[in-house]
Order: sequence, then structure tokens, then C-alpha cells
Amino acid sequence: MDAINHIDCWGRIRTELRSSIGVDAFNNWIEPLEFEKVGAGHGHFVVPNNFMGNWISRNYADLIKDLFRAEGIPLTRLSFTAPEQSAPVPVPAGKPKTEAKPDGKIELPTSPLDSRFTFDQFVVGTPNELAHAAARRVADGGDVTFNPLFLYGGVGLGKTHLMHAIAHEIRATRPDARVLYLSAEQFMFRFVQALRFKDMHSFKEQFRSVDMLMVDDLQFIAGKNSTQDEFFHTFNALIEQGKQIVISADRSPGEIEGLEERIRSRLQWGLVVDLHPTNYELRLGILHAKAEAQARAYSKVGLDVKVLEFLAHRISSNVRVLEGALTRLFAFADLVGRDITLDMAQETLADILRISDRKVTIAEIQRKVAEHYNLRISDLLSPRRARAVARPRQISMFLCKSLTAKSLPEIGRKFGGRDHTTVIHAVKRIEELMQTDSQITEDVELLRRMLEA
Ligand code: ADP
Ligand code: MG
Repeated sequence: MDAINHIDCWGRIRTELRSSIGVDAFNNWIEPLEFEKVGAGHGHFVVPNNFMGNWISRNYADLIKDLFRAEGIPLTRLSFTAPEQSAPVPVPAGKPKTEAKPDGKIELPTSPLDSRFTFDQFVVGTPNELAHAAARRVADGGDVTFNPLFLYGGVGLGKTHLMHAIAHEIRATRPDARVLYLSAEQFMFRFVQALRFKDMHSFKEQFRSVDMLMVDDLQFIAGKNSTQDEFFHTFNALIEQGKQIVISADRSPGEIEGLEERIRSRLQWGLVVDLHPTNYELRLGILHAKAEAQARAYSKVGLDVKVLEFLAHRISSNVRVLEGALTRLFAFADLVGRDITLDMAQETLADILRISDRKVTIAEIQRKVAEHYNLRISDLLSPRRARAVARPRQISMFLCKSLTAKSLPEIGRKFGGRDHTTVIHAVKRIEELMQTDSQITEDVELLRRMLEA
């Protein structure tokens, strides 16, 4: 294959990368890459600096090699070389724009906001009501009462949605306020670019001139020491000026490994709130809201509301998956001119439902739970009502309901011939406890992970 073909091939691989790693990461890391050549099983790239070279090599080299292999070009090694220090560094089109605006203010490197992520579109339930209330308070402005606001929780529980909602609200009510929202990855990228272009002065100016700074997915900068350092200084400068800071992460400050101690303790000065895993009611509420929006777009498609209940029961992972399921149902129903019924949903979503199922059996759940709590399986099936046995039994029933497709009466029968109302009660009780008792939440999540593995 000749060089021209290799270049074409790189073009296709770039397109592939853009969709698989996301536009943000693509713009940060792949866009600045210059494909040089392929020779003797090695792929050569030029990168703006060694830092980026190392980063790309560690995070994307395997993926890039896979994509070359898929193009029929197996490569054993990739090299990412920075131009010699003495050579002039070409200034790519991506240099940050830091020119002053006509009014003398600096342009902010804010990330685009999703127009659907507003407070109006956010469905509130027990698992997220505190996070929602805190976000609202910050968006309403007034005195800064807690700083920073730290939102954390698992994937797809609405952290980004709430942060965008704050930004939308402030843009609408106080258009002069300078709100800067970006991911921690973007923060790091800006910082690295500033170092590379010897532009630290405007970097600092940009970040310290804002009225509100929002950094999404902070866990990303854990272990990246110079970035953390800069973040710490920015953070302190803003707090001292009484500017609001909002941060999100997938874990609490105490659980983020590789986060500097001084940052950890600073984060805990403010308000730390978590978004709990969704419960059935919240999932159903979200599905109703999203179905209404879909129904406006696809006015000819009819929907059996039982489908929403079915989905809320069967898809208990993140909200993004729920949304995706609904979108697919409407698109498919519209295409084939059918209504959305239970049968149709089961057919159309077979793959998603299978993943949510992972074919866990009731027996397996009983075994794992018994092991975890040091009980015998026969204890779980017995009539004993002592808390030490009853709670694990309820957890087992809850897991059976959320991880298998078995009906309530079937589950009841497998627990020593209990009635289905006992199972309903157990599921409710565990959902309640998961809102208040972090030990139970941890146990359930751990068991769920072990069973789904
Ligand atoms: P996270 O940042 O926590 O991973 P996102 O904020 O990106 O999650 O949410 C994932 C998707 O789920 C988004 O489309 C968001 O609008 C939706 N979503 C999450 N929670 C809610 C909620 N309570 N109400 C409405 N939509 C929600
Ligand atoms: Mg997010």
C-alpha cells in the first residue's frame, strides 16, 4: 500500500475515532496529531509536545492500532514524536482564542451546553432531590452560601444535566454574569496548551475573571499533578473573591484516588451532595416525561403506558440507557407504522434487556447474598424474622426483582413459598433504605456488581 492510501486510511480512522471517543476527547488529543508515515510495521506521528505524545500513547495507542488493523494494516508499534525543541513549533489552528472582546473582557473557553439539560426537563425524586435543590439554590444566585458545591454520583444520574441547567438559568436571568463550564479534561487541555504557547498569563486571567466556575468530572485530573496544582490555585483565587464554584465527580472527594490532600479538604469545606442510584418511581417519572416529549415529535405513534412500567423495572442502570431505549422504540414504531406495545418493546429492545438481565438466576443471587452475610441459603428460605436474616432476605428479593425477569409470585415461591406481596414489600423497603443507609447501598451495589460480572 502506498503513502496516499495510508493517508486516506488515517482519514477514515480519524472519523472512526471521533465517534468512538467523543468530540471533546477527539478535539483535545487526536486533532493535533499529524500522521507522518507507516514503515516496517511502525506508525509514525508528530505531536505538539512530549506530554501529549505520552498521553496519547498511553490512552489511545491500542485503539488506533486496532483501527489500523481493521483497515488491513497491522502495526506493531506507534511512535509519537514531538518536534525538536529548537525547531519552531508550528502553531496549529487550535490555538486558544484569548483575544480580548470589544468590551475589554476576555473570551471564556466554555464548553457548549446541551439545550435539553434545563431545570424544566429534570425530573426530581427522592434519589436526587437534595442535589437538585442545591443546584437550584446556586442558580438562583444571591449570597454564596456553600462553596464549592460538589455533586457526585454514578454514570448517567444527571450530574452534567444539573450543571448545564445552572448555566442555562444564569444565562437567562443574569446575562452579564461570566459563567465558565468545562470538563476537567478540557481544563487540563487548556492548561497544557497555555504551557505550550507560554500563555500562562492569559490562562490565569481567563479562569480568574469568572463569576462562576463549573468543572465536570473532576476525577479526571486525579494523579495529574501539575494540572491539580493549577486547579488548586484557580480554586483558591475564586473562593477568595467570593465566586461560586460547582464541581462534579463520579465519587466523593474522599474516594478519588490520587487527589491531593489539600484539594480534598478544600472540597469538603463546601456542600458535598450525592445523586443516589435511581429508584423505580424516579425511573418511571423520567420515562413519562421523556415519553411525552417523544410523543410530540412522533404524534402518530401510540404508546401503551405498561411499557414504561416494564422499562422502569427492567432497566435499572443509568438514565442514559433508559432514554436510549425509549428513543429507539419511538423511532422504530414510527418507521414501521406500529404502536408501542409490550410485545413490540420486548422484541425491539431484546439486546438492551438481555444486558440488563445477564441471565442471573435466583439461586445464584441467594448463594451470593448468603455468602456475603455469612448465612446459609436455608436461612434465606426459612420463616425466621430476625433482622440479621430478614434484611439479607429482602436484599436477595430486591436483587431478584432488579436482575432477573422473574415475576413476583415466582420470586416469592423460591423464597420458601412466600406470597408476592412479601416480595413487593421487600423491594420497597430496600429502595427506601438505599436512600438513607449508605451501608445497605454499598452492600447492594457490591452484590449487584458481583452478580453482573
Ligand atoms: P452524568 O453526568 O451524571 O453521567 P448526565 O447528566 O449526562 O449524567 O445524564 C444522562 C442522561 O440522563 C441525560 O440525557 C440526562 O438528561 C438524563 N437524566 C439524568 N437524570 C435525569 C432526571 N432526573 N431527569 C431527566 N433526565 C435525566
Ligand atoms: Mg457527566
